[in-house]
This record gives sequence, structure tokens and C-alpha cells, in this order.
Amino acid sequence: MDPITELLAEVLEEIRPRDAGAPADYIPELASADPDLLAFSVVGPRGRVRSVGDDHAEFTIQSISKPFVLALALAEKGRDAVLGRVGAEPSGEPFNAISLEPVTGRPANPMINAGAIATSALIPGDDVDDRTARIVDMLSAFAGRSLWVDEAVYASESLTGERNRALAHLLKSHAVIDGPVDVAVETYFRQCSLLVTVRDLAVMAATLAFGGVNPVTGRRVVDERVARDVLSIMSSCGMYDYSGEWLLRVGLPAKSGVSGGLMAVAPSQFGVAAFSPRLDTHGNSVRAVALVEEASERFGMHLLEPHESVASPALSLHGDDTARVVRLGGELGYAGAERIVAILRDVAGGLPEDVPVTVDARELGRTHPGALVALRSEFEDLPNWIWLSE
Ligand code: GLN
Repeated sequence: MDPITELLAEVLEEIRPRDAGAPADYIPELASADPDLLAFSVVGPRGRVRSVGDDHAEFTIQSISKPFVLALALAEKGRDAVLGRVGAEPSGEPFNAISLEPVTGRPANPMINAGAIATSALIPGDDVDDRTARIVDMLSAFAGRSLWVDEAVYASESLTGERNRALAHLLKSHAVIDGPVDVAVETYFRQCSLLVTVRDLAVMAATLAFGGVNPVTGRRVVDERVARDVLSIMSSCGMYDYSGEWLLRVGLPAKSGVSGGLMAVAPSQFGVAAFSPRLDTHGNSVRAVALVEEASERFGMHLLEPHESVASPALSLHGDDTARVVRLGGELGYAGAERIVAILRDVAGGLPEDVPVTVDARELGRTHPGALVALRSEFEDLPNWIWLSE
């Protein structure tokens, strides 16, 4: 076992004894889940999938489908059209609440049921099969393998899903959804019934972490902007009425589902997923929450703590006192530009005025345009400085 997998296994065993909560039973088919199942997985930039526990157990994706269908809606319709039908505000209410804006009837956000039904209804297609096919294609691209629907769970939810049907009728009455209510709600039930493993969820999360490129298949699934929009909404709304405390404790965009799955995204670092069917009162998996919380602590994943890579871009000095070359690499942001300017001033101060200095910026990675302008303008009045860029 490699050291990272060992660490995952250690965290898994630490969390295993917790047995609070119970599997969801309002969808009868979910009540029969084995409550002891427990799995954990992480996928990094090179697409290596590490997983421990019941990592091949399949379960229905449920609400974790919501961010990916949102991604599809954003890709197909654009942000403004989506925001016209569903908001981006945390509801502070349970996932199945009637969180609709008073006058417009627009649901609070796409991560709760009302908002997710509105989002699904934006996916083009003539009927349930046609729309579901597009959704399945998108989610499969995120997972890097073909996903399919668990017909028993779908039938069970469709048979008992009167609350979601009522939500869909309310949306229709406010003209938030076009077309037949049945098509919208059955498409939503089918997307929730797609089968995944914890490994699939970690790959899907990783695809969001790397700006919409699946690190296992290498395929771009959605634009970087779409991935960013989805992560923004997951950050404030992904854990229902636990979203605020989750952000405080774990500091990562995340999404949970009532069958016990949970995924979280550490942008540019990795996707992580956990699975365990017993739920807390918010409808989040007790042990999956604990696993990701513990991992966030151990890996230092909280987004809002200082991260050095943006503040300290790579810089190396070459040449001698007759000619100097400064090579820049990595990401250049506001803080990095400030640091580089200070270092380059030092270099300049230690050299006679006529020694040429070349700043080689060809290996710079992602640059924030404002930082680059600030950096370049520093050197415009230095006569012997040469700026090399693509
Ligand atoms: N299919 C479930 C429902 O609509 C999804 C809810 C969830 O995972 N929180 O009730």
C-alpha cells in the first residue's frame, strides 16, 4: 500500500466505529442498503485513483447528480439563462423544502430538490429518455465510464415521489419550468438513480477540481468557467442546511446525496469522495462527513487558509556578473508579482548598471493579467532589462 492509501485506510478505520444515523427510508428501495458499507477515495492531477473500504460497492448518486446536471445546463444554456430559472443563494432549509422566491417562484439554488428539478427541466430533449440520455452522457464523461440507471431505485422513487412532483407543479405554476411536469420530474428521478461507486464520485469531483478536465481520461468535459460556477454554488449550497458549518470546518465545495455518498473538491489538488449509508438529520452521511472532515484536517485542504503556491511563484537565477537570466515559473498572482519585484530589485541593485538582465517568463503558468501588467511595467524604465515571453 502506498503512503497516501495507507493514510486513507487509517482515517477509514478511525471513523468506522461510528454508528449514528440511519439509511434514508422515504425512498423505500434505499432503506435496504447495508448500513455498514464504508468507502473512501481520492483522485489527484495524474488521474491515479486511490481508494479504501467498500470501494466497488454501487449506490445511486441521488443529489450528487445535481452539480453535474447544473454543469450541463450551464454548458447548454449559459449562466444568465440558468440564473433566470434558479437562484444561487443558500436556502438554509432542508433539501426537499419549498424554497421558492415569493413572486417569481424561482428556487433558491440548484442543489436542493426544487432547484434541481428546475435545472433538469432546462436540459433540451423531446421526452424523458432523450433528456436522460444527455444527462447520462455528461455524468459518464465526468466519471470516465458509462453509467446506468438502477431501475429498482428509479421505480421506487417514482412511485413515492409525490413531494417532488408537488414541487414540480409549483415550479410549473410559476412558469419556472416549460413543458410537461411529468417529463421534468421523471428525468430528475432517473438522474438521481444513476449507479456510481466511491471511485466514480472521486473522479467526478477531480474533474471539477481540474477545471473541467477529467484527469483519468484526459478529456475536457466542460469549460473552466462552467466548472468554476458549479464549484461556487457547491461551496455555499452543497450540504443543504449544513453548508455554512461545513465550509467553516472543512473549507471545500462539496455535495452529498441521500444514499450516503459525498464528494468534495480541492481545486487544482484532488477530488475526494466517501460513502456510508447512515444519514444525519440534514440528510448527509454521518461517516462520509467525518471522513472528509478528518482528511481535510490531515491534508490541510481548507481553501481559506493561506496557500503558498500563488504567493511564491517559482524563480531561478542564472548567468554571471556579465549577463543575468531570471527564469519565472508557476502561477503568477498579485502576491507573487509583489515578491518577484522585490527579488528582481535586489538582483538589479547588486549589478553594475550596464549588465543586461533577461527575465524569461516563457515558463510562467497561469498568470493573472493584472499581476503581469504590474510586473512588466516595473521594468519598462530599466534600460538593460529584456523581457522574454511567448
Ligand atoms: N432523489 C432524492 C430526492 O429527490 C435526492 C435527494 C437527496 O439526495 N438529498 O429526494
